[in-house]
Amino acid sequence: MDTVIIGSGISGISAGYHLQKGGEKVVIYEKDNNWGGLCGNFTIDGFRFDRFVHFTFADNEYIRNLFEESSPTYAHPSISSNYYKGYWLKHPAQNNIAPLTVDEKVDIIKGFINRKTKPFEEIKDYDEWLRVQYGDYFAENFPFKYTRKYWGLEPKELETKWVGNRMHTPNIDEVLKGSYETQEKIFYYTSHMKYPKKGGFRSILNKCREGLDIRFNKEVVEINPLEKYIKFSDGTKENYKRLISSLPLPEIVKMIKSCPEEVINCADKLHNTCGYMVSLGFKRPDVPKHLWFYIYDEDILASRVYSPSMKSLDNVPNGCSSLQAEIFFDCKSEIPSKEVVMKNTIEKLVSMGLFKEDEIIVKDIRFEKYANITFDKNIYTNRKVVLDYLKNQNIETIGRFGKWEYYWTHQAFKSGMDTVKNEEK
Ligand SMILES: Cc1cc2nc3c(=O)[nH]c(=O)nc-3n(C[C@H](O)[C@H](O)[C@H](O)COP(=O)(O)OP(=O)(O)OC[C@H]3O[C@@H](n4cnc5c(N)ncnc54)[C@H](O)[C@@H]3O)c2cc1C
Repeated sequence: MDTVIIGSGISGISAGYHLQKGGEKVVIYEKDNNWGGLCGNFTIDGFRFDRFVHFTFADNEYIRNLFEESSPTYAHPSISSNYYKGYWLKHPAQNNIAPLTVDEKVDIIKGFINRKTKPFEEIKDYDEWLRVQYGDYFAENFPFKYTRKYWGLEPKELETKWVGNRMHTPNIDEVLKGSYETQEKIFYYTSHMKYPKKGGFRSILNKCREGLDIRFNKEVVEINPLEKYIKFSDGTKENYKRLISSLPLPEIVKMIKSCPEEVINCADKLHNTCGYMVSLGFKRPDVPKHLWFYIYDEDILASRVYSPSMKSLDNVPNGCSSLQAEIFFDCKSEIPSKEVVMKNTIEKLVSMGLFKEDEIIVKDIRFEKYANITFDKNIYTNRKVVLDYLKNQNIETIGRFGKWEYYWTHQAFKSGMDTVKNEEK
């Protein structure tokens, strides 16, 4: 085969679509029995669940149009909520502290006014970044706690370039206004979140997926860059002229027998989060009150919960609704069992008053080994060693885990498109 792509996630689909359009002969090998990767979904008794919360907010017109041509979408306003010690605060919490007790509001506002200022270039880590943006009290009680839940690390262990526009940094007027009343304005990095009307999130790829040769249940277990072949877990082998991989960096280096130890060590030091999805289907239509919300309390394992049925009613049977809770860990930490996570999630969501246990008609828990890329302080050095090595072996990498970047779907898609440019070089 001329060009072999490993992985049928959004980056692999995009690479395949664009290369094939340019006349290249392409085949995609996928270890699962279906396409989409993290953009994929699964269905249980008529309840469809994506693999973690997914919306599109592609900024590139060409990509946005391709997604829209694939499937009509709903545009949901980016309104979400935060759960903190029994209070519900509109997102972002730093601008909407009105529901809290007077004492806590005073602590937050005092902390904000007295926060130290520092130019971005001089800030040494995420811990300091949070203190500089929000003041000590808010930083320690909100994002510090969320960091431990979402990233599984202490804020001191993270660097800051990844933050970008992901977190709103308010001025004093916004903090004060939000301490009197919940603000109408949306402070999210995008005003709307789009979601396909039918077929789950991966429908944004319907057009690109059409006509692609994807071979399923083909898990790559060995790569030989010298002799230019890959081997699969079923014992078969495929030669290639060009190899494009969306495999996670820590996995691909282990598949190359000749890979130097230094490279394997660097890949080993990369951090990512892994996570459970607890998916729940309910026999009544009105369980979810928020499209998604964040949970700060540390005794509740779930850090974020969203509603597939609010994304689209196509995701549930008539008269029903659904939620999916996300529970993350650092990949190198001890991970609790499925039973522990399921029990904690259901008990805590019930105690938050979201539903009664006997209203659940579908429950499922599954684990993803690769969720988010973690920007610990050594990521750039370790990642460079691995990427330079793969480039020398003429292996092109794409996607969130192939580039080891905090890519949204449209960025992972773009990295697949860029394989066309690589070829033109
Ligand atoms: C919790 C969470 C929420 C997110 N929310 C959003 C959102 O709202 N909006 C947004 O734009 N982005 C979101 N993202 C990001 C988005 O999911 C990713 O950027 C994108 O899906 C990555 O696609 P990919 O093709 O790079 O990787 P993947 O989707 O991981 O694709 C890789 C493919 O390779 C296959 N594979 C792995 N190993 C092998 C092997 N050995 N042999 C063969 N095949 C193999 C996998 O099965 C998979 O299909 C979110 C991500 C997470 C974790």
